[in-house]
Order: sequence, then structure tokens, then C-alpha cells
Amino acid sequence: MKNFNPADNIQDLQYFGEFGGVNPSISDSSTYTFLSAKTMFDTFEGNMEGCYLYSRHSSPSNLYLDKALAAMEGTASANVSASGMGAITPTLLQLCGTDDHVVSSRTIYGGTYAFLKNFAPRLGITTTFTDITKLEIVEAAITPNTKVLYCETVSNPLLEVADIERLSKIAKRHNLTLVVDNTFSPLSVSPAKLGADIVIHSLTKYINGSSDTVGGVTCASQEFIDSLKNVNSGASMLLGPTMDSMRSASVMKNLRTLHIRMKQHSHNAMYLAERFEKDGLITVYPGLKSHPSHTLYKMMINQEYGFGGMMTLDVGTLAKANALMELMQSKNLGYLAVSLGFYKTLFSAPGTSTSSEIPLDEQIEMGLTDGLIRFSIGLDNDIERTYQMMRSCMVEIQILQN
Ligand code: PLP
Repeated sequence: MKNFNPADNIQDLQYFGEFGGVNPSISDSSTYTFLSAKTMFDTFEGNMEGCYLYSRHSSPSNLYLDKALAAMEGTASANVSASGMGAITPTLLQLCGTDDHVVSSRTIYGGTYAFLKNFAPRLGITTTFTDITKLEIVEAAITPNTKVLYCETVSNPLLEVADIERLSKIAKRHNLTLVVDNTFSPLSVSPAKLGADIVIHSLTKYINGSSDTVGGVTCASQEFIDSLKNVNSGASMLLGPTMDSMRSASVMKNLRTLHIRMKQHSHNAMYLAERFEKDGLITVYPGLKSHPSHTLYKMMINQEYGFGGMMTLDVGTLAKANALMELMQSKNLGYLAVSLGFYKTLFSAPGTSTSSEIPLDEQIEMGLTDGLIRFSIGLDNDIERTYQMMRSCMVEIQILQN
């Protein structure tokens, strides 16, 4: 673990374009020719390494990005997809069928929650949602039909931390596959190194980092990735959430700066979290000593990338949250928008946006309050100046006193 550095692993890969370009050429084709019919047959059967068949299955550009993301997560292989949900749903459907059961963290991205709660039961797959920080409750939820243990490293939006090492021990004890969505903490946490079997990202967020596309990836063993792409039975191949080659080439270029961006996101978020907590606001950030899992998270992270760029502030009421977000946007401090990992700070009230799929009573039970604002802290150059400007917005709305 000590010697594992995800950014160095990406950097150590070397690709050239076909004319010696410093970036690999983009494969601008949906289908590929064969010199012999026999090779085409063998490729269909999955027996021809290095031959391409059809771009829904794989393309040279997608394979470059697959390799880089597998290197980042320390898994044998990876498969990029058209969105984060396009990675999550085929992965779960590959692992589970009728009568199978999932134990999932209850604080997960609203879309994943809605899939497990509302859609998967149509296929006979049921889910028990639990508090992922209470390991005895997690273990008690496992039944003989359970196949998957599912969580996010740092949960959306409450920033709860999953103890991946201990969850993986539970998973192994019960012969389950531990699937971890690491979207909030790329580079900072390496879940596969902590025992996760499958690591998923929405590339839409930090990894691409420019809010210009959606994308996803599943990082796992070669065997599992092959099963996802199997022409007869693979959920990715058959459901078809394929990333376009042009997009994978552009995500690949943005991946080159991820390590620099994560350090700055973490630095800025830590700065603001410390200042606002001192000001008396209810501030949740895993880098703060007051975070219930601070000590655990500190041990889990690859230290140099920090505690990440996500932070929440509770400003009391939805009306105040909305007024503050509108005012901050008017002062160009960031955008009132869902998503995360942009150069600009993004903020939203999760209860009425990204987590609105979660019924109100369940939101209350998990501590998702009305006045909660989720911040994805941007890459601001002068974070003290940002703090002063945010603070004066809070004074204007009477969240803080002058
Ligand atoms: N996982 C997490 C933690 C997310 O926040 C999101 C999207 O917000 C997703 C998965 C889904 O990703 P996408 O929007 O790329 O499908």
C-alpha cells in the first residue's frame, strides 16, 4: 500500500499516436475490418487478443482510458461507459439476478438509490439499505441470498465514510462482492487496495473535471470485465452504455491533470471547512477533527491528495440555503448546479435536488436536513478572498453575524 501511488501509475503508462503523436490517435470507427473470416470468428468468441470487432464491445481509444483507470485503481482491468449510471447498473445486473439481494449503504447517490429501490425489484433483485458506518447492522442485514455489498467511499451527500477494509472482511466472510463507488475520492482513496472487489467512478465528476461530458468506469478483475463485455451474456455489451471514442480521448487528456486538481480541491475545501466551522456553522468535511470518521479516513487516504473537495454546510432552513446559493451565484462565487469536480465551486441543496429520489421520511432519518448545502469546492486561486466573499454573503442573509 505504501508504495502504491495512483497518479504515478497513470503517468508511467506511455501511448503514442500512429504517426508518433504525443496523444494516442482517436479511433473514429464503429466497426473494424478483418483480413480473414477465421480471425473475425475467433474475435467473436473472445479468442483474439488485440483485434477489434465493433465499438460497442471496445475501441482502441476506450481501451487506452480503461488501462489508465485500471492503473489508477490498481485493478487488473477496467471498462469505461457512457455515464456513471452506465457503469453502476450493468455491474449490479452482472452480479445479481432474480431472487438475489443487495446490502447497500443508505446514503448513496440518488440515482443509484432509485435504481436499487424502484427498478431492480422489477427484475427480482431486492436491497436492504443500512447505515454503512455501523458494521454490525451491515452484517446483520446479510441473508443467504445476498450477493453484493454496495457503498460509496465518501457518501453523497452526507460525506459518511465507509470503512472499506472492514467491509471487505465482512464481504469475504459471507462470499459477497464488495462494490465501491469512489466518485468523491479519486486518488485520495484506492478502494481496491483496501479490499474492494470492484471500484466504480462517475467520470463526469473529478476525473474528467471540466463538466463537459458524462462518463463512467468499472474497475475490476480481468475475469469480471470480460464477463461485462461478453457478447452472449455481458450486461455492458448487451445493454449498450458505450462511451464514444471521441469522449474517451478527451477524458483521457483531462485525467492527466487530476493529481494537481485534487490537491487544490482538497486544499481549498480544508481551508473553507476550518474557517466556517470556527465561525460556528455546522460544517461537515472529512478533514475536520469533528468529522465522526476523521481518524479512520486519515488512515485510508493517500495523504498527498488530501481529504477531497466535498463539504457540506447546514445553514438552518431551505429558504436560507436557497437565498445564499442565489446570492453566491450572483457574486460569481460559484454556480447553483448539481454535479461536482468542476474548476468552479458548485452548490446545491441535496434534499431538493440530487437526493430528491429519497423519500422525505428517509431523508430525515439519515440526517439529510432542509438547510444542508452540498459544496464541491473549486480550484480558486486565492481561497482567503473566496472565504471573505462567501462570509459576507452569509452576513447579508443573516446566517452569520458581522
Ligand atoms: N455516483 C455518484 C457518487 C454520483 O454523485 C453520481 C452522479 O451524480 C453518479 C454515481 C452517477 O453518475 P453519472 O451522472 O455520470 O451517471
